[in-house]
Amino acid sequence: MSSTDLYEILGVSREASADEIKKSYRKLARQYHPDVNSDSGAEERFKEISVAYEILSDPQKRAQYDQYGTVGGPGGMGGGSPFGEGFGSINDLFEMFFGGGGGGAGRRQRRGEDIQRSVHQKLRDCLTEQHVELDIERRETCESCDGSRAEAGSKPETCRTCGGRGAVVQVRETLLGAMRTQTTCPTCRGDGVTVSDPCKSCRGTGFQYKKRRIDVSIPAGIDNGNLLQMSGMGHAAPGGGIPGDLYVQVTVEPDKQFQRDGSDLFVELPVHYTDLVSGATVDVPTLEGTEKLRIPAGTESHSQFTLRGHGLSRLRGHGKGNLHVRVKLYVPQKLNRQQKQLLSDLKEEDIKAEKKGGNFLYQLLNIR
Ligand SMILES: [Zn+2]
Ligand SMILES: [Zn+2]
Repeated sequence: MSSTDLYEILGVSREASADEIKKSYRKLARQYHPDVNSDSGAEERFKEISVAYEILSDPQKRAQYDQYGTVGGPGGMGGGSPFGEGFGSINDLFEMFFGGGGGGAGRRQRRGEDIQRSVHQKLRDCLTEQHVELDIERRETCESCDGSRAEAGSKPETCRTCGGRGAVVQVRETLLGAMRTQTTCPTCRGDGVTVSDPCKSCRGTGFQYKKRRIDVSIPAGIDNGNLLQMSGMGHAAPGGGIPGDLYVQVTVEPDKQFQRDGSDLFVELPVHYTDLVSGATVDVPTLEGTEKLRIPAGTESHSQFTLRGHGLSRLRGHGKGNLHVRVKLYVPQKLNRQQKQLLSDLKEEDIKAEKKGGNFLYQLLNIR
C-alpha cells in the first residue's frame, strides 16, 4: 500500500466525524495489529493506520492535513504543494506532523513558515508586467550566531532527554496492549540540542526579525485570484532548514467597460442605426486605445465581431487573447422636432421599399 491519503488508509470519507474515524481506526488496528496478524505487510499497514489516526484524530493536525495534505496546497500560478515535492511516503507525513521520524529518521528538517500578501490592480494593469514593492517583516537567521542560538564562544549541546534524536518514544496502554509512539522531544522541541549560553542578539531564538522590501513582478495577463509563489522568500526555518515561501495573491478589480474571460475581453459598442444598415467603419475602445472595426451593411443589433490579438497576454503559452465586440443599436432617448420628422419620413420610405419588394418585414413595419 503506497497511499498517503490518510482518509483512504482509514477507509473513511473526508467528512467523517471524529467518532467515525475512531471506530474505523479501532477496527483496522485490531485487524492488522502485529500480535494478531502475521501476514507480510501487516505491520507496515498497522503503522500507516496508526499514523493516519494520530493525525486525523487531532483537529488541528487534521485541518492542516486537509489544507495541504493531498490537494497540493494553494493552487494557481506557480502553485504546487507548499511542501515542495509532496509526500513521498507515510514516513514523510509522520515526520512533517511529529518530527523525529516514523521511520527512525533522525532530527527533523523543519521548514520556515510561508508569508501571504495580496495586491490589487486594475484590468488595464494586466496589459503589461507590473512591479509592486511589498514591505514584509520576516524571521531571518540570526547573523551573530548564524542560527545556532548559542552566544559566541559557546556551542549548543546534545539534548540529554532525547540524546540528540529530537524525538522520544512513548509507550501507551491501549485496548490492543502497549503501543509505542514517537513524539517530539519536550526538552529540545525537536532540535536535538540545548543551549546553555543563549546568543544575546537573538535571545537564543536563532532568529532576527528583519524588515524587507520585496520587488514583486506581476506578469502581464495575470487573472483575478492568481497566486504568485516566490520560493524561499518566507520566514527562515529553525536549524538551517528550508525557508518558507512568499505567496502573493493578485486581485484584479472588475472594469466598468470591459468584461474578461481568461485572456479574452468583451466590450459592448452602441452603433447608430444608419451604420448598422448601411455599413460603416467605427472606432472600438480597446484597453490600449481605439481600433477600427468594419461593420458590413445589414448588420443586426447584438452581432459580435472579433478583433484578434486585442485581448490580454496569455499566461501560459504565447500571444494574446481577442477582443469581442458586441454591436448594439443606439436608441436616442430624447428627440427634437427635426429628428422626429426625419425618422417618420424614413419609416415611410422603409415601408414603401419593403412593400415593393414584397418582403416579410413589411408586415412588421405595418403594425401600428
Ligand atoms: Zn543569535
Ligand atoms: Zn531533545
